[in-house]
Amino acid sequence: MKHIGLFGGTFNPIHLGHVRVIREVKSGFDLDEILIIPTALPPHKKSEKVVDAKDRLKMIRLAFLNEPDYVISDVELKRSGPSYTIDTVRYFTSRMPESTRLYLIMGLDAFLEIDTWKSYKELFLLIPFIVIFRILGAKDDRTSGSESVGHYLRSRISKGYTFSPSQSTYIHDNKRPVFVFDVSPVDISSTLIREHIKRGISIKHLVPEIIEDFIKTKGLYL
Ligand code: ATP
Repeated sequence: MKHIGLFGGTFNPIHLGHVRVIREVKSGFDLDEILIIPTALPPHKKSEKVVDAKDRLKMIRLAFLNEPDYVISDVELKRSGPSYTIDTVRYFTSRMPESTRLYLIMGLDAFLEIDTWKSYKELFLLIPFIVIFRILGAKDDRTSGSESVGHYLRSRISKGYTFSPSQSTYIHDNKRPVFVFDVSPVDISSTLIREHIKRGISIKHLVPEIIEDFIKTKGLYL
């Protein structure tokens, strides 16, 4: 049995927060592979300046150079129009062998808006979720992150979800499980990096060095 996580995002650009969380989820769930899927036209981020897809793809490749367990997929970039997660999940579930288990990884913020996404109800039938949130060290953060997932699931998706504390998972009779997973907080966002570049502030320690060089050479985000 092969276990593969799907991790989507704008990656405009990819940064050390992404890299850290991707590695932590892989080891935390003992996944064989993580598929990193940059989105084409983010339906929720239309107004922002998103650099060319080829450059975003290239930067992800650089971040995981020579690491074959981190696979970069251009499936959303090749599709015309905006990227919808349901299309990507249908694409991979229909192509993977029976012996493969897929998991959809996403941040708590995105998860708590999922009822605004295209065909979101189908997502809960098709694929287990791994919902990640950042805790600052206090046990309360972990509890409240997990509770907000539970509250959201029961109020917006289905009353039938129950929590299994031993697995940190919300389970349901006819829907796929929703795992909650806390990761170390890394206070970096792509927005912060774009702002730093515009203001001439160094982005060292926010992105891998090889990506810092790439951004500089290509003059991105100026
Ligand atoms: P932006 O600042 O442009 O909104 P972003 O830094 O949030 O971008 P995205 O590409 O939108 O990056 O994020 C993809 C995924 O990575 C999301 O699920 C998001 O929650 C997660 N993520 C982003 N930054 C971090 C971080 N510092 N730590 C953990 N997860 C993160």
